[in-house]
Amino acid sequence: MKLGIVGLPNVGKSTLFNAITKAGAESANYPFCTIDPNVGVVAVPDERLQKLAEMYDPDKITPTAIEFVDIAGLVKGASRGEGLGNKFLAHIREVDAIVHVVRCFEDPNIVHVDGSVGPKRDLETINLELIFADLETLEKRMEKTNISLKTHDPKLKAQYQAEMAIYEKMKAGLEQGIPVRAMEFNEEERAVVRQAFLLTDKPVIYAANVGEEELGAGAERNPLVAELRSCVETENAALILISARIEEEIAQLDEDERQEYLGELGLTESGLDQLVKKSYQLLGLISFLTAGKQEVRAWTITRGTKAPQAAGKIHSDFEKGFIRAEIVSYNDLMACGSYAAAKEKGLVRLEGKEYVMQDGDVTLFRFNV
Ligand code: GDP
Repeated sequence: MKLGIVGLPNVGKSTLFNAITKAGAESANYPFCTIDPNVGVVAVPDERLQKLAEMYDPDKITPTAIEFVDIAGLVKGASRGEGLGNKFLAHIREVDAIVHVVRCFEDPNIVHVDGSVGPKRDLETINLELIFADLETLEKRMEKTNISLKTHDPKLKAQYQAEMAIYEKMKAGLEQGIPVRAMEFNEEERAVVRQAFLLTDKPVIYAANVGEEELGAGAERNPLVAELRSCVETENAALILISARIEEEIAQLDEDERQEYLGELGLTESGLDQLVKKSYQLLGLISFLTAGKQEVRAWTITRGTKAPQAAGKIHSDFEKGFIRAEIVSYNDLMACGSYAAAKEKGLVRLEGKEYVMQDGDVTLFRFNV
């Protein structure tokens, strides 16, 4: 799972990204992660791993992780190739979701590219670049579909006409400044929309970067946050409040110091933890767990994933040779006190190829090699 950090210059992206890499997990532990200076890996907080470790006393505990990519270089005019322009847009195409950092702190020492702090204007500047890029992508696609429409096959023709109608609808919306994710489509239309791979169709989390002194209750009184919130409400996106500077400090503390510091700030979890949790929600992700003497580990899957595909997350051979999964829910396992006790009570289930994985399934895959 990959999230791209975007935002105008000087809003706090690098500060947040530094916090991510400092707090970060070793990407060497995650074969699926890219090793790249612009990529940071963050462990997904999951207290269940600790509890499982008490039961299994494993050699190691491996949380699941999310990748963050620092996508610098978006400026006004990027869609026309200014700044890092097209390169920037290509990076956004590759991520599963966007974290859009918006400056909500006042600081006369830190220059704003447009001369003053203005969350609504900033958000619109970036969204407009993405909308321009989408319009270009869409127009190319419409040209192609126009050619395909010349077909004499009535069935195909009807299909292309239906697609064209959806493209027209998206185009009209984009021209009014509406991101694709905020437009209404039925399920059938959604399938066509997804196939167009548009940037404004990606899920977005807005991260309001507030001043250090404003975290906790104070931030809700910040008029800049209120301004941002009212924009976000209309476009089907999520919002979190962070202070990039504090995140950078927190990232350097060990676990005990961190809890103490958060307590002093009146917070229960770091902005980074909130960001990871929100990403999970927004992307419809869940975790299943594996536990043994060697390792206790969490794995990320999309809600609705079936057992063989979940097995494939561990190793492609597990998916190919999938026979069945032995599953006990985390809560049942904890209530019984041990795997053996859960088995005795009949709470360890044998599940086949059609089983839809649930969050917190403690799983053992059986497979042929
Ligand atoms: P980027 O261009 O978006 O990557 O922005 P940077 O992360 O480099 O931040 C620009 C400047 O703003 C740096 O000097 C940061 O120290 C400062 N900055 C970032 N977050 C905060 C904040 O929450 N409060 C204040 N006062 N300054 C911040």
